[in-house]
Amino acid sequence: MSDTAVEVSLDVDFFRRWITRFAEAVDGSCDELTRLDAAIGDADHGVNMQRGLRAVVASLATESELESPQSVLSLVGNRLMSVVGGAAGPLYGTAFRAMAQGLGNDPTVEPEDLVKALRAGLDGIQRIGAAEPGDKTIVDAWYPAAMTLETSGRSVRSIALEAERNSREGMLATIPLRARKGRASYLGWRSEGHQDPGATSAHLIFVSLVSAIR
Ligand code: ADP
Ligand code: MG
Repeated sequence: MSDTAVEVSLDVDFFRRWITRFAEAVDGSCDELTRLDAAIGDADHGVNMQRGLRAVVASLATESELESPQSVLSLVGNRLMSVVGGAAGPLYGTAFRAMAQGLGNDPTVEPEDLVKALRAGLDGIQRIGAAEPGDKTIVDAWYPAAMTLETSGRSVRSIALEAERNSREGMLATIPLRARKGRASYLGWRSEGHQDPGATSAHLIFVSLVSAIR
């Protein structure tokens, strides 16, 4: 049986499910994100993200009329932008807004559109944060998920699985790195040996993408 026979539809429900799973994953990882940020930052990344994603879920619940994946992601970006503090708020807010713009306004989008959106999200993060892969940031988990992805003729499932795997490798590869951007960069060599909190939360986006399909 071909891969497309069991293809999921990338409609509003799918995007709602993706974001809901992301919020659940952030809830479940809140303590870990806080612990990671305590080691090389100021121990607020878990609660920052949790507060933001809870606000997102509350807004999604009251907005029953969202008509496109674009409107779902743009709501997510706007809420994260206004609710999440620190470095992560503007970065993730911009990422989700840029993904929304990258999607177009159709009620259902294609797998290639999803990949385009992930790349647009990365562009947004790099435009405002100016981090490159290897700087020990969100980019280390997002870049390999979006940019090294093989795209043509793929099912959503195989795109999501590859994105998650690449992003996990990128996240783990932050451990030995010295931070060159953000608060952790003030620590210099003392940031080495710790997994980056932002790369860890970014990886959850791709974990949630996979679980939204199953
Ligand atoms: P703050 O550092 O202001 O307390 P958070 O703790 O919420 O903000 O987020 C910290 C995370 O933000 C870091 O682990 C890192 O991954 C990410 N980050 C910081 N600066 C940048 C940047 N310029 N580009 C991408 N990600 C960044
Ligand atoms: Mg912090």
